Amino acid sequence: MFIGHFAIAYVLIRLFPHVPPLVVLIGVGFPDILWPILILFGVEQAVINPNSPLQKYITFTSYPFSHSLGLTSIIACIPGVVLALTITPLAGILFVAASASHWFLDTVVHLNDLPITGLRRDKKVGFGLEVP
Ligand SMILES: [Zn+2]
Repeated sequence: MFIGHFAIAYVLIRLFPHVPPLVVLIGVGFPDILWPILILFGVEQAVINPNSPLQKYITFTSYPFSHSLGLTSIIACIPGVVLALTITPLAGILFVAASASHWFLDTVVHLNDLPITGLRRDKKVGFGLEVP
């Protein structure tokens, strides 16, 4: 799905040519940039599972901050506000929207492990469609 995230970025770049492309390119990857940092610090968890059919040996056990629609979007507002104040308000909005688009595309390929809000006792989604 990695390439799909950048497809969204290129659509946004085309629709909003006055916003620096790097804003949306980093925005669509923001959850995947956040995730390894949070794993490294033990905030989020993943386990190696050689029997996982789709996710290439990694089972995502807890990643509410980097990969939920709710909390990740709230966290994306931090750089979004900085971008809005330093570049343009549209740049900030696009960063947050690009980050949120990551979750929607991830629901297509992830197993039923993507949190919606990121809060406790959250419902998780994921269609588990395999991308060749
Ligand atoms: Zn991701």
